[in-house]
Amino acid sequence: MRWCENCDRPFEGETCEQCGQVVESEIREPMPWKWRFFIVATVIYLIWRIYQLVSWLMH
Ligand SMILES: [Zn+2]
Repeated sequence: MRWCENCDRPFEGETCEQCGQVVESEIREPMPWKWRFFIVATVIYLIWRIYQLVSWLMH
């Protein structure tokens, strides 16, 4: 299975049957789980840092 970036859909074989474009790259996940985990971890880290900053400013 390969992914056509033009049509934004998967297809079989070397060329996309919808637009005829030759796509070399193998199919890839739209959003890998490690990236989701990384984003969530970054958000939690930022919230923790803001919380620390606020509590430091209060004292
Ligand atoms: Zn296509």
